[in-house]
Amino acid sequence: MLRSSLMVFLFLLAERIGHVYGSAGNFWTYRGTLGPDHWHLDYPHCGGIKQSPISIDTNQVVVDTARLRPFVFEGYDDVRDINVTLENNGHTVQVDLNQKLSTVSGGGMRGTYIAQQYHFHWGSVDSRGSEHDINGVHYPMEMHIVHYNNIYANISEAMDKPEGLAVLGFFFEVKRYNPHFENIIFNFDRIRYRNLHTEIKNIPLIDLIPSSLTSYYRYLGSLTTPPCYESVVWTLFNQTIEIAEEQLEQFRKAIFNNDESDGGVSMDISDDFRPPQCLFHRKVYASHEALKFNPNPVYQPEVRNQNVNDGSHGNRLKLTLSILFYCVITNFVL
Ligand SMILES: [Zn+2]
Repeated sequence: MLRSSLMVFLFLLAERIGHVYGSAGNFWTYRGTLGPDHWHLDYPHCGGIKQSPISIDTNQVVVDTARLRPFVFEGYDDVRDINVTLENNGHTVQVDLNQKLSTVSGGGMRGTYIAQQYHFHWGSVDSRGSEHDINGVHYPMEMHIVHYNNIYANISEAMDKPEGLAVLGFFFEVKRYNPHFENIIFNFDRIRYRNLHTEIKNIPLIDLIPSSLTSYYRYLGSLTTPPCYESVVWTLFNQTIEIAEEQLEQFRKAIFNNDESDGGVSMDISDDFRPPQCLFHRKVYASHEALKFNPNPVYQPEVRNQNVNDGSHGNRLKLTLSILFYCVITNFVL
């Protein structure tokens, strides 16, 4: 009874919000009335119970060393002289891998997954940017390498199937200059505005990712952008990728979310992350005993460029707390 009453209440609430803000059509943003709180109105999967990202509580993870064995990467070191497409899609910087060069298997996953694209989520300051967090600590940037299961013909066919996609997620740490990202960042002036793209030389994926890939977290979740299909085997690696502050600044300052022809004021894409979603009854697994109870695996971000007057940070904190409160209440009732 309580459960059905709550569902009716939530339905009416969603209806009410829908009437207030209207139907957005095939469009979404990270801010305002088309932001993450409203995605489910146009994309119902975004209101599901296996959504991503999540906040990883290391006290709650289940260690499963028997299943979460090392990955097998193939073609990640491919150095053939081919081009890939670098694009600004208005939500992120994305590199489309035009050929089926790289695959990943093992790591407790069922089957082999083909790398299709990688993209980034970053913050306007160092203290935020990653979609996932470890014990509430966010990293300044997170990279997702998106793969699809090779039993499907292409990513479109795989993206709404259970475990159709495998996303490898990597956190960034502000540290040394990382020359492997030069080829991406140097071309930002060609993709400054939404819908611009350019061809760049393929960068072997092995150059972009950390050297140690055996310590990781695993859970089942969704795309972190609409249509939020719950089709993703998520892996989040413990070892971070290093990047220099000035490189991160290029992501923050050189990429805009409007078309070149729009005119008016350009908005940078920074803070293109979805807030953490309810875990509900899912479990997060870890490949190593050392990952459990680890208060913060490798990184304590310094708040180097946090503007104390930046109201949006406070708003995001409030939003995160309200989501967590909502998760606790609904988990208890359902
Ligand atoms: Zn992503």
